[in-house]
Parts: sequence; structure tokens; C-alpha cells
Amino acid sequence: MYPVMLDVGDRACLVVGGGAVALRKAQGLVEEGARVTVVAPEVVVPLATMAEQDCLRLERRRYLPGEAVSYALVFAATDDREVNSKVYNDANDAGIWVNVADDPEFCSFHLPGRIRRGPLQLAIASAGEAPFAVRRLRQLFDRRFGAEWAEWVAAASRYRDRVYALGLEPAEQEALFDRFFSSTVNSETWSARVPTAAEEADWLGMPVDHLEHNGPGEETGPAACRDGGERAGFVSLVGAGPGCPGLLSVRGRQRLEDAEAVVYDRLAAPALPCSLGPEVELHPVGKQAGSHPIPQEEINALLVRLARRGLRVVRLKGGDPYVFGRGGEEAEVLDAEGVAFEVIPGITSGVAAMAWAGIPVTHRREAVRLTLLTAHEAVKSDGPQVRWDLLAQDRNATIVGYMGVTALPEVVHQLLGGGMDPSTPAAMVEQGTTASQRKVISTIAELPDAVVAAGLQPPALFAIGPTIRHSDTLDWFSRLPLAGQRLVVPDEAAVLARRLEAAGAEIVPVPFPVTPAAQVVMAALPVTGCVVTSAAEVDWIHEERGGPGWINEAPSWCLGQETAARARERGWRPVYELKIDMECNELVAGIADRLR
Ligand code: SAH
Repeated sequence: MYPVMLDVGDRACLVVGGGAVALRKAQGLVEEGARVTVVAPEVVVPLATMAEQDCLRLERRRYLPGEAVSYALVFAATDDREVNSKVYNDANDAGIWVNVADDPEFCSFHLPGRIRRGPLQLAIASAGEAPFAVRRLRQLFDRRFGAEWAEWVAAASRYRDRVYALGLEPAEQEALFDRFFSSTVNSETWSARVPTAAEEADWLGMPVDHLEHNGPGEETGPAACRDGGERAGFVSLVGAGPGCPGLLSVRGRQRLEDAEAVVYDRLAAPALPCSLGPEVELHPVGKQAGSHPIPQEEINALLVRLARRGLRVVRLKGGDPYVFGRGGEEAEVLDAEGVAFEVIPGITSGVAAMAWAGIPVTHRREAVRLTLLTAHEAVKSDGPQVRWDLLAQDRNATIVGYMGVTALPEVVHQLLGGGMDPSTPAAMVEQGTTASQRKVISTIAELPDAVVAAGLQPPALFAIGPTIRHSDTLDWFSRLPLAGQRLVVPDEAAVLARRLEAAGAEIVPVPFPVTPAAQVVMAALPVTGCVVTSAAEVDWIHEERGGPGWINEAPSWCLGQETAARARERGWRPVYELKIDMECNELVAGIADRLR
């Protein structure tokens, strides 16, 4: 097997087949500028749409013998092996490269799994021998490589031109390339950054102002091209709400739908609209398992850079941007750099997670004050301090503590020391408002042990005060039949999704073809199952199942015999068949029954 990158720009390419797999091939080719013809008697809707938009030519008919020979590259993805073999033989006999999906015998080339960050591409292949392994490896690398690599390659390419312009000896050039690489790539975390103009000037031994007119302001992103680079960028600092995707504000959602780049924290990931197209730049900047958080200065610099490229940027932050979210710091930097911005508040987790846990944070005659505090900062010996002694004395009040899992014993110690009644009701809520929500109710004195016993982990909040005694009677959420379920549902099944949501499930509405945003959302929290309404959807979701986020043996709820049969064929377990003519309500009840 010999790897190459083909320039398919303006080449005639043929895709035989009209299903999900054919669509993926056609899309990949169209994106690279190929002239694509799709031949199939029936096609999925996105293919028809692409044809209507003149992105490809669609021939609604069967494959004609010999047809393949007039193309440069040929793909067959029908579910008829005879047709596939005809296409293969026609092409192969004529010496034309041909690929039949899922049939290595009928392939003169294989498609690698690929990860793409701007012009940078990683291809992973197994010579067709273990596609399942390639798929999983691809997912692994995809998570490892952030969106910043696209910018990094663009910076590397600019840098190369500058180095060449100096007309140095090869060895000197290499030394400058080494400098760039070692300063901007973190080989432990697989992250990269764009060097500042000052750094580059230093390496190249030239004054900064010589570089600046050529700096980030002139980078050409997709939007910059479209608008001739004239448009000024804009940053919306948007609160994503506490975790449940429905708790994002209407305006926040609008800004996300209009965004060209989204810079998001880990806690905000579940609120990303799955419908964001692949052209939207996604920049994760939160802590991710196994890697370090990105320093605040780098996040600030990224926001400024994206805005200078003329992009509409959304900075999506968990909860509310100004409640322990460093939103103020980011806004200050934007202001200082002359970047226009706005702030769209979000529902802060301290209030929302409590509502989901049956705790009203104020209550007439019980709690007339609400204190939101960060426990993390407050127990450090430097920095501003919380007057625990005063809070301890205020009985008719609720204290809600952010970032308080590790600091909890110290907080309790301070409050009891300040004279708080040890039997004051207290709670800790983990992953509030999400399908993974857990809560522990106790007294203030016993809360630390109870939290350890239950193994609660961040993100979690504690609450202390008289209203916590309502948490059982007002616990509407965990009573819902589908509470705790996080289900992938095709975004076309919107009515069904609403009903499932009303029954307590969190819905990940996945569009087909699956977007990178949907993949981020799936991976953000455990996916406990999926609902599929057609065999084609099974094929789509099959690519994602078992990927990041999916729990093992996530049940699938299949509408109709054919759907269930395809799911079983694909090896899904367990598969539950639901009658195709069921009303939404019956479906929801059917799912709830099985889960019980
Ligand atoms: N700006 C955010 C808070 C960011 S600080 C807001 O307004 O909600 C991060 C802390 O918020 C976490 O350590 C945790 O204490 C809390 N938090 C955020 N989301 C949470 C959730 N869904 N459940 C419980 N705590 C949460």
C-alpha cells in the first residue's frame, strides 16, 4: 500500500449508490473540489439537496455497464454486491482506481481514516485489514488534536515564507524551523499554539513592526476570504447554562447558530448545537482528560486572534460568564485590544443545579439571602477571604459554594467554628441538570463524610441552609421516568425528542451527516442509548456508536422491524424493537417500561 494525497480538484469522479455511505464519499469529494456524479435510483435527502444546489450531478437510475471508464476515480457503495462487482471490474479493467465500500476484495485503493485541521491532515490506515481499529484510532487522535492546529499550520506556512526570504544556508533554515517547532508544540499534550509576533521577530532577528503588517490581522480564514478581510470581528461571551442543553438562552443559541468560530469550555460542551456545520471552527479550551488546562492568557490571545480574522466568535462558558467564570477578565482583554464584544448571561449552575435537586435557593420565611461563593479561592491563604464567621451567624440564608469538592471539609470546619448549627441541612449536587446528576443530602456536620462515601466528583456544588429540607418533596427531576438517560436521537425526530425530554431524558439531536459539533456533544457526557427510526439512521449512527461518550452496550430503541433488523445485523446489542405506528407517548412509555 502506497500512501498519496490526490488532488481531485476539477476531476470527474463517480459515486455509485445513494445511501449514507455514498453520501459521505460524495461529500468528501465535493469538499475537495471534484466534479462528482452520483448514480443511484434512490438517494438520501442530503444527496438530493446537494444536487439541487449544483454541488454534484445526480443521475437517478441504475448503473450502466462500462460507465465507470470515463472517470478518474470511482466509488461504489450500493448494497447490491453484483452492482458493486460490475463497477469494480469496469474500472479496474480500464486501470481506473476504484473503491467498493466495506469490500476490500473490490478495492484498488483504501480510504484512510483522517483527521483534518485546516491544511494539516493525518491519515490512518491498516491496508484494509482492520477498519474497526482504524475508526477507533481516528476518534482517539481526533480528540487529541485541537482546532488550534489549523491556525498553527497557517502560522508555520507564513513562517516558512519568512525564513526563505532571508536566503539562509539550509542548516540555518533548519535551526529556525526547529525553533518554531519546539517553542510552539507541546509534545506531551499534543497541543500547539501560534507564536506571537514578538517571538517570531526574535527568532528571525528582525524588528517586530516588520512582521506586524503581516501578522494575525491578515490571516485569511473562511470568513475573511468571503468578505475580503474587511469585516471587523466580534466576540459574544455566552453563558451556556448549567449543562442541560435546553437551559441555554434563546439569544445565546442564535449567536451560536451564526458563529464562525466557537471557543468553548469543557462544562459548556453539552450546550453546543449539534447542527453547527463542519465549517464552524471549534476550539476546546477546557481541561480534558490527560491534558493540562490551557492557560488563560492563551485563551485571551486566541479570542483576539479569531476576532482579528474578522470572524463572528462565540466564547461559550459554563453557567453564566460572569459568575466565577473569568468572563470579566476576557472582556477586559477584548476591550483593551479594541475588539467589540457583548455578554449574554447564562443560567448559573448554583441556582439551576439546586432547582433540579429539589432545592429552592430562597423561600419565603426561610431563606431571605442567597450567597454564591467560590470555595476554592476562599480557603487559599492568599487572596480575598470569605467571612465564614458572618455567614455562620446568618440562619435565614442559603450558601451555595462553587468549586467546593476538595475545599468542603475546610469550609465546614470554618462554618462550625463560626457557630453554625451542626444540624443545618446541607447538600452536594454533582453534574446538576444533566443526565449524570447525583446528589447527597445531609447535615452540615456530616456532609464531608457523606460526599466521600458517595464518591462525588467535580463539577459539583454544595448548598447549606434551611431550604435544603425540601429536597425530597420537591425532587421533581429524579421522579421522571427517563431521568438519567442521555439519548442520541436523529434531529429530524424533533417531536419524539420533545416527548423524551419531557419524560426526563437528555437528548443529543444528531443531524445526518453527523457534524463535528455533534461528536463533541456526544463525547461531553455519557450517552446511555439511542433511538433510531430507519435503517439508514442505523448506518449513520453505526459510525459513531462505541465512540467517545458512548457507554458499553448502550441499548438502541428501534422503530419498526426493518430498523431493528439492520441494528442487529450491525452487531448492536441490546436492540429493542418498538412498533412503527406507535404514538410518541406510547413510545416514551415503552422505553421507560424497559428501563424499569
Ligand atoms: N460560570 C459557571 C461556574 C464556573 S466555576 C456558572 O455560572 O455556573 C466551575 C464550578 O461550577 C464547578 O467546579 C462546579 O462547582 C460548578 N458547576 C458548574 N456546572 C455545574 C453542574 N452542572 N453541576 C454542579 N456544579 C457545577
